[in-house]
Amino acid sequence: MSDETLISALVDAVGADHVKQDADELGYYGSDRCRGTWSVDPRVIVLPKTVEQVQAVVRAAASASAKIVPSGGRTGLTGAATATGGEVVLSLERMNRILSVDVPGQTLRCEAGATVEAVQIAAAAEDLLYPVDFAAKGSAQIGGSIATNAGGVKVLRYGSTRSWVSGLDVVTASGELLHLGGSLVKDNTGYDLRQLFIGAEGTLGIIVGATMRLCTPPKGLLVALCSVPSDAHVLSLFTRARRELPLQAFECFDQGCLKHVLEHRGITGRGPFAEPSPQHVLIEIEIDGHGDDAQERAHDLLTLCLADAQDAGEIEDAVVAATAAQAHDLWDYREGISESLHGHTPHKSDIALPISEVTAFLEVWRPAVAKALPDAEALVFGHVGDGNLHLNVLKPPAESAESFVARAKAFDEETYALVQRFGGSVSAEHGIGLLKRDHLHFTRSDGELTMMRAIKAALDPRGMFNPGKVLPA
Ligand SMILES: Cc1cc2nc3c(=O)[nH]c(=O)nc-3n(C[C@H](O)[C@H](O)[C@H](O)COP(=O)(O)OP(=O)(O)OC[C@H]3O[C@@H](n4cnc5c(N)ncnc54)[C@H](O)[C@@H]3O)c2cc1C
Repeated sequence: MSDETLISALVDAVGADHVKQDADELGYYGSDRCRGTWSVDPRVIVLPKTVEQVQAVVRAAASASAKIVPSGGRTGLTGAATATGGEVVLSLERMNRILSVDVPGQTLRCEAGATVEAVQIAAAAEDLLYPVDFAAKGSAQIGGSIATNAGGVKVLRYGSTRSWVSGLDVVTASGELLHLGGSLVKDNTGYDLRQLFIGAEGTLGIIVGATMRLCTPPKGLLVALCSVPSDAHVLSLFTRARRELPLQAFECFDQGCLKHVLEHRGITGRGPFAEPSPQHVLIEIEIDGHGDDAQERAHDLLTLCLADAQDAGEIEDAVVAATAAQAHDLWDYREGISESLHGHTPHKSDIALPISEVTAFLEVWRPAVAKALPDAEALVFGHVGDGNLHLNVLKPPAESAESFVARAKAFDEETYALVQRFGGSVSAEHGIGLLKRDHLHFTRSDGELTMMRAIKAALDPRGMFNPGKVLPA
């Protein structure tokens, strides 16, 4: 099929207004947050409105031997939604309806292009909670978050997106629509195909709709920020907190991260604590019950735990938020980190470790950075309760971006070899995409890679969906 015939088939499928070929739109829809890392070269953008239109686009692309990049909110951080080789970009943007909320069953049905935030809002309107929460939720779509198995700040309490997918509607490489699961709580009927599409980064099929699980929201939350004398004390504090507190989140960030947040916000004073300290931990706990009594009980539980931690030398200082506004301000120190590093060309790695190995890993990784990149600032923050660290190395101001990226990428090999040595994963929550494809072998064995390739060949025999992503050539 010629280019012209493909475009005309796509126009028949979705209407001329929803087939885009001008340069601005090719650039806009053709890449994700990794803009500038790879050359962006889609052939055409299509924006279907219905499942039938998605099926027609898949069939048209298959007849033309064209490739398809499924595209969600394009907030991904690994290049997984970037079109680099003349693909059809299929954006789910117009398929964004919340279809229904089943209150007794605590589930919500929506189209794949609904944003994570829209799902949270629809759940909250029924006094229910969709608990997967991350900073890009206003743009990230439920389909994209399923395709990347997104995590976020509440994984410790609620798990990743995978835990919340009850049913999926998927368009396969033949254009067939599969309904995988639904709102059943129990269903033990052979292979759970739905799981294959979660975290597959659009390489096996297109998610067009989902049934998401919801839950009862906590009655209230209490937040504290602690200054901590070392990486090792973060782990002992976590061990204590996990035993004694109903944890919702347990996040850490080092002194370098705090310094950048304060600088970025133009805060010249001392920040949350009188004395600087190597590490900081944000603890959020659930309040069990309504009213002042419940609030006081939770407060007593938290302050007692923090006092014991201080006696044991695990924390130097702590502040407990007295109001929702103060809690928001404390979270702001943690959530402002990515934005504050943006202007410093950070080289980032999102890794996972067994929780008990977090300190041992940092004891080796920090000196390794100091040796290999002595002029670069190394910063660590992350979701300690999930063993998920975000490692950042900042470009020295005088160095060109090109030279720094080359040095930092060479150092990645050392980082991922260490991750492997400590039994970790090269990607905790951001996925593989293009960015980590060639590092997948540090986490996955040859046997696993062979089986992944067999699954890809079975579900997408012509390699139509998201070519070049996830699996190394
Ligand atoms: C500021 C910021 C903070 C972030 N914080 C977190 C965090 O805390 N935790 C976390 O896990 N991630 C985080 N991310 C990464 C990102 O937001 C998530 O990976 C998100 O789930 C991506 O959703 P999306 O709709 O933007 O997907 P996209 O970026 O559009 O696509 C991601 C992948 O999914 C595929 N895809 C998209 N839609 C579909 C579909 N309907 N069917 C099949 N495949 C599809 C794409 O082809 C691509 O492979 C953050 C990103 C930013 C910018």
